[in-house]
Amino acid sequence: MFSLNSFFRLNLPNGKTGVVALKRLCPGDELLDNYGHHYALEGREERMKGLLENYYFNCTCPPCSFPERWPQLPQLSSRPGTFICCHCSKTNPDGIALHVGSDGWIFCPLCQRKFGMETLMEELEKKVDGFLIAHDLLLSNEPLRALPKLIECLSYFGSHFQVPFFRMNEAEETLKQTLHLIIHKKKGS
Ligand SMILES: [Zn+2]
Ligand SMILES: [Zn+2]
Repeated sequence: MFSLNSFFRLNLPNGKTGVVALKRLCPGDELLDNYGHHYALEGREERMKGLLENYYFNCTCPPCSFPERWPQLPQLSSRPGTFICCHCSKTNPDGIALHVGSDGWIFCPLCQRKFGMETLMEELEKKVDGFLIAHDLLLSNEPLRALPKLIECLSYFGSHFQVPFFRMNEAEETLKQTLHLIIHKKKGS
């Protein structure tokens, strides 16, 4: 079980539960939750067994259906991401993977736009640096300063990389911790 548009749950003072989506949602999007068996942390057999025993269903989510594309954390972290077309990804939920053309340019097979590998890598490096700064800010107990940087990283990863992408998992987890800390600070103040 996994959640493609995972969200963060918070208990509101009025007794209600609020949710914050960790990715931009479009009208009509489905909100998906994780039942406690994360694809990156547990093997497929273990997940399927747990879901069947506790929730009585056979999971057919993408990681359970295509386990070779959704490896666990150790393999995922050593795998480079797959760039997708940032223009076509807006209308194709799974993203359109970029191809390397015979002329050395990277191109989108759908809209035919060309991209330079060097520019793509430079942009990625910048966003990863932004993530590391945000991570340090969180460790220095400055979650409000980390928040906008994390949102920027996640929105970039989401529109430029096919899921799963290790950097995206990492940024999502950091964003969850950041939100926890902000709420905790608010409660304490
Ligand atoms: Zn599943
Ligand atoms: Zn395209």
